[in-house]
Amino acid sequence: MYQTFIGLEVHIHLLTKTKGFCGCRSAFGDEPNANVCPGCFAYPGTLPAVNIEALRMGCMVARALNCTIPEKTWFDRKQYFYPDISKNYQISQMGSPLGRNGYIDIEGTIAGKEIKKRVRIKQCHLEEDAGKMIHTGTVSLLDYNRAGVSLLEIVTEPDLETGEEAELYIQQLRRLVRYLGVCDGNMEEGSLRADANVSINLPGKGLGQRVEIKNLNSSRFVKLGLNYEIARHGEMMDAGKPIVQETRLWNENRDETLPMRKKENADDYRYFPDPDLPVFVPDAAFLKTVDDAMPELPLPRTKRIAAEYGLNAEQAGLICEEKALADYFEAAVSEVTANGAKLSKTEAAARTANWLLQDIKHIMGKQGIAESEIGGFRLSPRRLAGIVTMAADGKINGKIARQALEAVIAEDRDPEDIVKEKGWGLISDPAQIAEALRAVAQKEAAAVAEAQTAEGKRRSTLSAFLVGKVLAATGGRADPAIVKEQVEALLG
Ligand code: ADP
Ligand code: MG
Ligand code: ZN
Repeated sequence: MYQTFIGLEVHIHLLTKTKGFCGCRSAFGDEPNANVCPGCFAYPGTLPAVNIEALRMGCMVARALNCTIPEKTWFDRKQYFYPDISKNYQISQMGSPLGRNGYIDIEGTIAGKEIKKRVRIKQCHLEEDAGKMIHTGTVSLLDYNRAGVSLLEIVTEPDLETGEEAELYIQQLRRLVRYLGVCDGNMEEGSLRADANVSINLPGKGLGQRVEIKNLNSSRFVKLGLNYEIARHGEMMDAGKPIVQETRLWNENRDETLPMRKKENADDYRYFPDPDLPVFVPDAAFLKTVDDAMPELPLPRTKRIAAEYGLNAEQAGLICEEKALADYFEAAVSEVTANGAKLSKTEAAARTANWLLQDIKHIMGKQGIAESEIGGFRLSPRRLAGIVTMAADGKINGKIARQALEAVIAEDRDPEDIVKEKGWGLISDPAQIAEALRAVAQKEAAAVAEAQTAEGKRRSTLSAFLVGKVLAATGGRADPAIVKEQVEALLG
């Protein structure tokens, strides 16, 4: 058996309105080359200007990853030629990354395997993205909309050991940056991209000869690509063949990695501090804006929600997958409590969680509404709380509750109004129930007569039969407790 080392480099697009070093719009999906200016290409006479929002968002990530933020930070030029980087250099950070020596705790289950691990973060640094090349037949097209967009690169130490751990790391890092509101985490659109480095070695021998798999655009491909490489390295080592340091690409159609190029070393890039950009000092006032913007992070929030509301780990995990979902859940439970419903906090939470994780998720899925958009959903936390409260207080039964939920979504109105207007409320007026029972007793006279003399099981079967008939006669709206009471009284 070999020891495996995996280190990931993840690039995230920061959700700043403008690019990192000029005023161009930073957006996905615009008309090609709509968002470009001379500054994007570093034309003579232009000067870059640092986007402070990018620095602030980068520092939020650094903080969330428990990194040390340096006293001074600056930008370096990384020189290389490529058509998508028309300046012939990329603005990046080499000597003073925004964050260093951090860690992230990951916890979860991948393919039935429970994983709990602390992954050290080597560093995170700001840089600019390159343009996009589109190869069509004999021509290559260039779209520079993405050129200059702020990226944060997050680099781990080689602490991960399996493709599954790497997949979980990507998922949880994605969740984290979405919680922070600094990246949309959309891997298909390239807002979050991963490069995976992997090596194997005999136990105790330290790091092996590494191979990099580039541009993995789904967390599943990270897992598959890595597991493929781990197996390939194992076979090479077994056969005594050397492993070459190279960059490979995951081919999703063939389910294998293929060589792309030999890997360059850092000194090939001739980094030097960008003379056009000032050194930035993250002072106390700036760091306060960073700290003030920090939300409760997903892992601690998952644990708190499980403990505070008495949910199991799976429910809490599902609710905390999206910040918007967790916000919705907590708001709805607190509304139920504020309504004075006859429920304990954990009961209110259990019912809210059930609605949320079953009916509501299902309906939103059917309507094509993303979970992150639940904040604007017609069924607001207050409206859901209204339904939970009415059901808990015996004003409506379970079937009506579901009907009311659907009506709220269809009609965009408050559940209390709908229930009242449609006459869906539970009937608890004894006279009204007595009338319904009289009609049933007339129709089912034989059953009533038999029940009046029957005993034991036969009697209870007949009694339940009559209760059922009364409930049916009232469209399921009669209060079952009162119906039962009156049937029992009738049977004597
Ligand atoms: P580079 O600057 O060439 O990209 P880094 O030192 O920044 O190299 O490392 C990039 C990533 O590769 C990091 O996540 C690191 O943990 C990982 N890494 C470096 N060496 C190895 C190795 N021998 N095996 C596995 N991962 C490695
Ligand atoms: Mg690197
Ligand atoms: Zn520009």
